[in-house]
Amino acid sequence: MRLKNGEVLLRWPLAQHVITAGFFYNDGSAHNAIDLRTNQGGDTKKPVYAAEDGTVDQTQTWDGHTTSGMQSYGTMLRLRHDDYAGCTLQTRYAHLSELCVSYGQQVKEGDLIGYTGATGNVDGAHLHFEVIWNGTRRNPLVWLDDNFTTASDQVYTYGAGEHAVEIAAEIPPEDVTDVTSQTGSIEIDASTGASLELAAGKLQAIVLAPLTADQASACDAIARRLSLGADRYVTLTVDAAHVAKAICVTNGDALVFFNWARSSGLGDKYKSMYVG
Ligand SMILES: [Zn+2]
Repeated sequence: MRLKNGEVLLRWPLAQHVITAGFFYNDGSAHNAIDLRTNQGGDTKKPVYAAEDGTVDQTQTWDGHTTSGMQSYGTMLRLRHDDYAGCTLQTRYAHLSELCVSYGQQVKEGDLIGYTGATGNVDGAHLHFEVIWNGTRRNPLVWLDDNFTTASDQVYTYGAGEHAVEIAAEIPPEDVTDVTSQTGSIEIDASTGASLELAAGKLQAIVLAPLTADQASACDAIARRLSLGADRYVTLTVDAAHVAKAICVTNGDALVFFNWARSSGLGDKYKSMYVG
């Protein structure tokens, strides 16, 4: 569902939320998804629900033996939701035993879309759940609420700056930084407020200003989903009702902010330059 500030809160795709593998596996290697336990009560076939309204934009039925390539997902479906921040948003559900929807079908959040299983490349039954934003797989836990448990203390949950969706997303006052106190790798041109000098790299510096509290909150949510730390994402006070965001990101992530600004009618508040 979309929150008041335009942010996305996805619905858990299963009734129970026990995470057996996070965005990174316990050995640190990339998983780019979460795995959810499905063997509660002795039955591994559990209903799978749509995480948000959407359209089925990919389906696959497992061939019964191949465990590589796309067939590693087993029986699988993907939903395309409304764009978020001007970029495509999709969710994928894999290793299913059964699909309850077909390609092109429209679904509502919470609709039954399939049943869990153990198809594809699996050791046992579980649900593999992906969130794909702007064509890249993101940590699903940043798009869900914090109502979950993990199978062990080793299971990865959040990286630095990441956390569950907060329904009342306001900027904590302590996170608002006065431009005059900024030191370190980011320097603001006080005359324009629109210039950054940063370490070398294929990076863009962005200034979004002036933003209202609601706009800033939506911008913060994007920064969180891109895992931008305080060295890359700075809030500056403009006046009592407005802030500026100074951002340093790669070209790919700059596109996310650009698309969000344009789709939110903030194109005239977006300034960027190549740095490094
Ligand atoms: Zn998985």
